[in-house]
Amino acid sequence: EKFKDGLSKTRNSFTSKVNDLVARFREVDEEFFEELEEVLLQADVGVETVMELVDQLRWEVQRKNIKNTDGIQSVISEKLVEIYKAGEELDTELNIQDGLTVILMVGVNGVGKTTTIGKLAARLKDEGKTVMLAAGDTFRAGAIDQLVVWGERVGVEVIKQSEGSDPAAVMYDAIRAAKNRKVDVLICDTAGRLQNKVNLMSELEKVHRVIGKEVEGAPHEVLLALDATTGQNAMVQAQTFKDATNVTGIVLTKLDGTAKGGIVLAIRNKLDIPVKFVGLGEGMDDLQPFDPEKYVYGLFA
Ligand code: GDP
Repeated sequence: EKFKDGLSKTRNSFTSKVNDLVARFREVDEEFFEELEEVLLQADVGVETVMELVDQLRWEVQRKNIKNTDGIQSVISEKLVEIYKAGEELDTELNIQDGLTVILMVGVNGVGKTTTIGKLAARLKDEGKTVMLAAGDTFRAGAIDQLVVWGERVGVEVIKQSEGSDPAAVMYDAIRAAKNRKVDVLICDTAGRLQNKVNLMSELEKVHRVIGKEVEGAPHEVLLALDATTGQNAMVQAQTFKDATNVTGIVLTKLDGTAKGGIVLAIRNKLDIPVKFVGLGEGMDDLQPFDPEKYVYGLFA
């Protein structure tokens, strides 16, 4: 239900446009495909994915000898799921260890990184895990306090130092504390300034190194928060972070706030990084695991 509600903007816009098309065109012809392309592009599905989808639809229509547009929606959703799942299988599950699991959250300021950390902590706690947060964004004014507020709300401990301190030192402290308290999952916030790619890289590298030295195989997840409402900007950010660090999963935030939910498919096609969670609101329980089938069929439900 949460999933369905959260997608209502995309559903209302995308699905109603497809339904309009189907009502206007009795026949599946070239003109229908052209207008369908337009609708898909408006939903931020991305040019390449749109081309691929429409090509495959053409084939399918020929193969099955589909003449009119009745029920074409189900063929479209089948193909959307197929395209999402094509190629290398992407693991959408979190990589949780038997011992301490360290998750690094990265992303540009304002995309919903802190909120996502809070929601994720709440989710993991609900699953019976003990969780700790590390206030690694020592750069943005207020970032530490904001994380502390989330920590209190969820009921998990936050390890912090003062603003301006070395993020790597915060991580070091946090890992020590997490080990001492036998915590299951440590979620680390990081700074989100992106004005200088070299800075970003060296800071993330340093944090990575410290974490990896203290816990074998850590960080076990590097989750990149992307704001779904920013469309192509999100794609550019994703590429920058992918170049800077080993991103293992994407959290697509604010999906509830956009009619352009097709960005999920563009991410799949362009980046080959799994979307592991989607943000569907500002509340504690508004983070949902991403499931391509639920997503696509939810659009047409
Ligand atoms: P940060 O700077 O990346 O840490 O971003 P914040 O976590 O402070 O979030 C920025 C704003 O986006 C806040 O007002 C959040 O409540 C809001 N936000 C975060 N995630 C979501 C989401 O999934 N849906 C909606 N509607 N708002 C969100």
